[in-house]
Amino acid sequence: MLFSEIGLGPEVLRAVEDAGYSQPTPIQEKAIPWVLQGRDVLGCAQTGTGKTASFTLPMIDILASGRARARMPRSLILEPTRELAAQVAENFEVYGKYHKLNMALLIGGESFGDQIKKLERGVDVLIATPGRMMDLFDRGNILLSDIKILVIDEADRMLDMGFIPDIERIVGLLPKMRQTLFFSATMPPEIRRLADAFLMNPREITVAPPASPAATVTQAVAMVRGEDKREALRHLLRTEDVKNAFIFCNRKRDVAILHQSLTKHGFNAGALHGDMVQSKRTETLEQFRQGEIALLCCSDVAARGIDIAGVSHVFNFDVPHHADDYVHRIGRTGRAGKTGRAFMLATPDDGRTLDAIEKLIGREIPRIMIDGLETPDMSEGESEGGRRRRPARGASPRGDAKGPRRRGGSDAPRESQAAVEAAPQVEEVAEARRPERAERPERSGRDRDRGRNRDSRADAPRDVARAETRPPRQDDRGEPRRRWRDEDDGPSVVGFGDDVPAFMLRVARPAPRAATPETFEDADTPEA
Ligand code: AMP
Repeated sequence: MLFSEIGLGPEVLRAVEDAGYSQPTPIQEKAIPWVLQGRDVLGCAQTGTGKTASFTLPMIDILASGRARARMPRSLILEPTRELAAQVAENFEVYGKYHKLNMALLIGGESFGDQIKKLERGVDVLIATPGRMMDLFDRGNILLSDIKILVIDEADRMLDMGFIPDIERIVGLLPKMRQTLFFSATMPPEIRRLADAFLMNPREITVAPPASPAATVTQAVAMVRGEDKREALRHLLRTEDVKNAFIFCNRKRDVAILHQSLTKHGFNAGALHGDMVQSKRTETLEQFRQGEIALLCCSDVAARGIDIAGVSHVFNFDVPHHADDYVHRIGRTGRAGKTGRAFMLATPDDGRTLDAIEKLIGREIPRIMIDGLETPDMSEGESEGGRRRRPARGASPRGDAKGPRRRGGSDAPRESQAAVEAAPQVEEVAEARRPERAERPERSGRDRDRGRNRDSRADAPRDVARAETRPPRQDDRGEPRRRWRDEDDGPSVVGFGDDVPAFMLRVARPAPRAATPETFEDADTPEA
């Protein structure tokens, strides 16, 4: 099918042609005609499928007629992260270049003043993260009574991040007569329940089975000791033909530590995580996009949807806690038919999570060993999976069988003395914190306090008090979903979304000294 056959207007078609697209992707082919007809759409599709254009293109056509009034946007697109929201805004600029539609991007970490000014001028398309959107609504800067089209994108990610109470509140403020487009990469029961509540007689569209890693990505996992991870990564960075790479860590503070370490070892690296100010996040991502930074140490804030062409590698410095995240992370490479390579570093403690990932993707990830590093005995790990499996020598994705690896062996990677001397400081910091990691998924006292600061919780879920307790969530594979909110979208947590543990709702009695929040001051903060 050609773009010209799915009912889009001539200006949009011209913009699509300028963008270099000749044929619609499956989600575009299936969704666009229904959106143009005004129908609600329930789309089960991942990023990378052309999902964004499947709603932006027809929206531009629909909104082309009509004018926006001050503070009364005509359409609303909700995105879970600031980066995704910014990316959708870029799409609107590209595809809407032959139209005169006004757009406002409302994301946390940026000045209220500019956003308010835009709203005052009247916007056709409002693209927002839920927290900032509600802040502006509560301040009286937005009226939602003129919204004709609502898009909820990445609904499962919204759920993971605890945004569902906000989403429910926002939807409750919209006119009943509207068109709703709802997208999610997976459809666990609670997402389906939401879809049932928000959509009217939707067309259901599914493209590509959820969580199938791109066939174009070659994967491998190296079994290493925790203390060898940085060295293993450096070895991979030096021996692989890395043009540019995302390097994922599970925690924000580990992103910062790894970034510092790589920089000290002479790598051209940047960092991206949710505790950084938005201007720095935007600047870093742009530098990575432009090739000014080759390696981007990041948390899962970059795992979903960030669309940067031609990323050669993804490194999972940490095995992600949740198997879905593995798929999203490695999906940053091997995009648009290009090939990519994804490496993961796993320690004996990662056996169970590694098992879950392999179960999800339906195959074993080839094991490799790192020159000069001892391969740990996997039975050292506490998990069953750790006990079960040992890395097979010579299982490199390139098929290059390699001999036994020993620390300090003749083929050990060489590093400059200066770099080696520079490293201990950051490595010591990391070591000192390591024991806390797996044990304390809850938020630190500091983060809780930070969450109370209104200015810093731009994208935070709220309405904790009205949230109800629920049994543990299961996703569509029957796995319990994460109980904590992904804190990556800013230091902005004030609650557990709609998943408040019962003990939090009880009236607190004075706590003994050892249990004061200060006790947790240094506790590590999980991100995913
Ligand atoms: P998305 O799933 O929206 O993140 O899109 C993934 C990538 O596919 C983006 O780089 C889009 O620019 C690109 N894309 C979207 N539609 C098409 C198309 N019809 N043909 C080729 N590439 C596309």
